[in-house]
Amino acid sequence: MSIKPEEITRVIKEQIEGFEPESAMKEVGYVLQVGDGIARLYGLQNVLAGEMLKFPHGVYGIALNLERENVGCVLLGEDYLIREGDQVQRTNRIMEVPVGDALVGRVVNALGQPIDGKGPIRTHGSRPVEVVAPGVVERQPVREPMQTGLKAVDAMIPIGRGQRELIVGDRQTGKTAIAIDAIIHQKNEPNRPICIYVAVGQKQSTVAQVVQKLTHFGAMEYTIVVSASASESAPLQFLAPYAGCAMGEEFMWAGKHVLCVYDDLSKHAAAYRQLSLLLRRPPGREAYPGDVFYLHSRLLERACKLSDKNKGGSLTALPIIETQAGDVSSYIPTNVISITDGQIYLESGLFHSGVRPAVNVGLSVSRVGGNAQVKAVKQVAGKLRLELAQYNELAAFAQFGSDLDKASQAQLVRGQRLVEVLKQPQYQPLSMPHQVLVIFSAVNGFVDDIPLSAVRRFEEELYAFMDKHHAGLMADIKQKKIIDDSLNRRLTDAVARFKEQFELLNQKSKI
Ligand code: ATP
Ligand code: MG
Repeated sequence: MSIKPEEITRVIKEQIEGFEPESAMKEVGYVLQVGDGIARLYGLQNVLAGEMLKFPHGVYGIALNLERENVGCVLLGEDYLIREGDQVQRTNRIMEVPVGDALVGRVVNALGQPIDGKGPIRTHGSRPVEVVAPGVVERQPVREPMQTGLKAVDAMIPIGRGQRELIVGDRQTGKTAIAIDAIIHQKNEPNRPICIYVAVGQKQSTVAQVVQKLTHFGAMEYTIVVSASASESAPLQFLAPYAGCAMGEEFMWAGKHVLCVYDDLSKHAAAYRQLSLLLRRPPGREAYPGDVFYLHSRLLERACKLSDKNKGGSLTALPIIETQAGDVSSYIPTNVISITDGQIYLESGLFHSGVRPAVNVGLSVSRVGGNAQVKAVKQVAGKLRLELAQYNELAAFAQFGSDLDKASQAQLVRGQRLVEVLKQPQYQPLSMPHQVLVIFSAVNGFVDDIPLSAVRRFEEELYAFMDKHHAGLMADIKQKKIIDDSLNRRLTDAVARFKEQFELLNQKSKI
């Protein structure tokens, strides 16, 4: 027969009636039940929600369920070390993680402890993992671009510093790839952001691969990796995104820019569901607890662009959500879609047909980033979305093999070239002037008469040609950030000259 914690509490209370001083009841408790990473405690009447509790053997826990008769607590260490009857102390502090410059370049767990074997981290401060997000008065609208280096994203779904942009798609559709490319791209960005990659519930080998790639491309020098892999306990997986965010906030409040990637929040929600069920909170839709929306909203609300009075720092969040069979209307995806300022929707159909990054242009949006987009990109990409949408519609229609009029045929040709131009290999983020250059060429019809198979080569040779012969023009685009009449003329001339050369070479190779 199992005894309920409430009954034990009642019996103990009856026994010690009149003996135990009130204050001790409030500051020290005893373990009633322990198992599955959860402990139920007796006493601790004044404990705060989210407060850290100290167990024997250096194990800590977080008080999550404050019930009438007992306190439910998740353990951050090994639960086999804890026994029934062990003493538990209050710490009067809510969970904190170390923050500061010393963390940059390191791989840490959800508690901020190093796991990369490079020795201890000496930090000078710490921050609570859960804080109330800055209010409206402390913020300002986003106004600086957060370039990702991906043509498809920067041109059509621009992200601003301080924005929250969701990356959503099925498994193996290149979600992580987009985030990693964005981090690698920051290397040469002005006012370089500190990047934080939070891995939740992933295989350790996957995280190791990401770290290896970041190191290879020199991105670790400005990146912190927070890892709570699938083998770690649910409480650590639950904590990791908040810990990563707290580390970022330290830089944000110092006036710097931060890019935070949460990979991925579906697994975060699953970890939270696990711990809620163990804590015996009532299950709701899909067995998630009722506050699963709040779980993500309080995390993502902390992304913001601070006002100039607060030194103007920013924290951009790129949460990732995995969908099942493209179902964006299930519980967790819809929650996070409604919290964020837009989403990049990746489709496995596109991915497998070779369109990579597999961005579905119709379903992807950025609700605030447009204000922050670089003017030059905005100018060249103005019609891109529309033309692509028209092309997709027409392409579906043209499949029936009906005769098309000239205008429609031209639109098909243009659309195919645009799709081709927006493809981009992994780990090759492009600088803003290069993006402007290639999109300018495509929307102004310079690519229309080039065979589809040669578009990729055209693009690569175009970059090489311009860097070699028109470095001044590229530098001007980078500096002016807007295409005025003279730049427009120079660009047209340069691209036209390159095209002559390209066609000449092509003809020769045919002969
Ligand atoms: P998971 O659901 O497993 O987390 P994911 O959606 O994060 O997957 P990735 O791991 O980023 O997907 O990518 C899946 C595979 O596709 C990887 O092998 C990656 O190298 C490849 N890939 C991603 N983007 C591109 C790209 N632009 N060009 C070529 N290959 C790509
Ligand atoms: Mg991934």
